[in-house]
Amino acid sequence: MKDSNCIFCKIANGEIPSNTIYEDEEFRVILDNGPATKGHALVLPKEHYSDLFEIPEDKLGNAIVVAQKVAKKIKAALNCDGLNIVQNNGEAAGQTVKHLHIHVIPRYKDDNQHILWNPTSPSSDELENIRDTING
Ligand code: 5GP
Ligand code: ZN
Repeated sequence: MKDSNCIFCKIANGEIPSNTIYEDEEFRVILDNGPATKGHALVLPKEHYSDLFEIPEDKLGNAIVVAQKVAKKIKAALNCDGLNIVQNNGEAAGQTVKHLHIHVIPRYKDDNQHILWNPTSPSSDELENIRDTING
């Protein structure tokens, strides 16, 4: 299914031009137009799934394999020093486009980006409680 109001559906299916660095039957990988770093790319399924909770398992498996292929291609071409895979779900997590996408973000020494988090210090009791809540 495509969503006629979704910009990433239009880009993924070639209705809106993009800087494509990989394409197959199920996915298009494009350069982000507001990149964190040089080579920041987005893996877009051609079908519309709003987020991680909607995409079927087999499609998600294929998406991460595509992310790996593109990561290798970017590393070889741009000689980055590291690379982050990021995938945001929901506004609270920073998702701005409601069509699932995987960010492939090459990292360079001193690129001055801050993709990692500030660690907190829960007690052992708090961690055990959270574990029990998640495990039911
Ligand atoms: P999110 O915040 O939803 O995880 O990521 C959305 C990403 O899509 C952002 O990094 C943003 O720069 C990128 N983006 C939004 N609209 C467009 C577009 O029309 N073309 C391209 N190439 N990237 C886009
Ligand atoms: Zn879409």
